[in-house]
Amino acid sequence: MEGKLYLIKEGEISLKGGNRNLFEKQLRHNIKNKLRPFHSDITKQKGRLYALIDEKADDEMIIKVLSTTPGITGFARAYQAEKNIDAIKDKAKEILKLSDFRNGESFRVTVKREDKSFPLSSHDVSCILADAVFSLFPDMTVDLKHPEHTLTCEIRNDVYLYTSEEKGEGGLPYATAGKGVLLLSGGIDSPVAGYMMAKRGMKLDAIYFHAYPYTSEMALEKVKTLAAIIAPYLGGLRLFVVPFTEGQIHIRDNGYEEEATLMFRASMMQTAERIAKANGASAIVTGEALSQVASQTLDAMNFTDSMTDLIVLRPLVGMDKEEITERAIRIGSYETSILPYEDCCVVFSPKHPVTRPVKEVARRHFDALDMNPIIEEAVRNTKVYSFDPMGKEITDEAD
Ligand code: ATP
Ligand code: MG
Repeated sequence: MEGKLYLIKEGEISLKGGNRNLFEKQLRHNIKNKLRPFHSDITKQKGRLYALIDEKADDEMIIKVLSTTPGITGFARAYQAEKNIDAIKDKAKEILKLSDFRNGESFRVTVKREDKSFPLSSHDVSCILADAVFSLFPDMTVDLKHPEHTLTCEIRNDVYLYTSEEKGEGGLPYATAGKGVLLLSGGIDSPVAGYMMAKRGMKLDAIYFHAYPYTSEMALEKVKTLAAIIAPYLGGLRLFVVPFTEGQIHIRDNGYEEEATLMFRASMMQTAERIAKANGASAIVTGEALSQVASQTLDAMNFTDSMTDLIVLRPLVGMDKEEITERAIRIGSYETSILPYEDCCVVFSPKHPVTRPVKEVARRHFDALDMNPIIEEAVRNTKVYSFDPMGKEITDEAD
């Protein structure tokens, strides 16, 4: 097949002993699936993947796919050359003309000579390729330590040349470490939490508790936008929207005011657990960080944990707001997260929330609320939205 060749570097996967094949297979599947409808052939060779992608696929799209897919540490548009030094030199010149190498800037040549039968040494090949650079850009300088540009030549079964390497997300391919449900609110934290678990190999569905009309249609739209933004990192996701107005009102009218948030969180855990179990997920992921707000103290988290027998994962627990914000900016969710539409916690928040609940007491108060029928009804009326791995909402018409 003719096409565009991309060389892909795997990070942590290369450390996986016996399971390595499984991880690689999943990563290849994840990339192929994301590149659809364009055809791609992905082969592997010693810690590298080579993706040959349909000529018609546009480079910007390919770069977006590869830079948002966990499991990839770096990638480059690569070109093959015949295995002789003249062909290598000619090909190098050809790609240098397309590159961002510029007079006045610095470069280095890196040669990886895996094929020990190649007649020239790495040093010889480097010198010849440096000459090729100087023939096109006589005013460039060599800087081996901190070059602005690098020309790389890998001599393996085949010969590959590339000039620019992009950074990938690192981590492990999603769908290699089980499945979880992400409690996704409209804030800064939970999209980052989802991204972090996906990067550790988890497959995720998201759940949003909507209290219409206390929280507006706009709040829901915002969460849908956030789902679309994180979808590429997660390989697509489904968003379960749970109508929880009745639950909130019931808690407000029948519980203790200062415990309202706690009771809501307990209800969220129980609802999430049902949705998780019905969809093959075994963990609940939240965007909580220790002591960020009143309901995120150790005692409060201990209580909410006790409301479910699924494992509750809080990947941001030890991070401060600044670190979380930095990541939100990097993954592109921040701008949406800071839009002003409030999520339901804020509307029903007590003025003086309990920060040190006693688990047994809170549990008794929760049981007295008899949330079960309300939760069941909410789960029954849950609406599901789906987003493909490029973040596009999948609607019925498109099916
Ligand atoms: P975030 O920035 O993610 O909204 P937050 O700092 O506002 O978090 P809380 O509102 O206390 O903190 O929520 C803590 C976590 O509980 C959130 O990160 C999210 O995982 C979950 N959560 C809160 N509200 C909702 C909701 N309406 N729907 C789904 N999950 C929610
Ligand atoms: Mg919030």
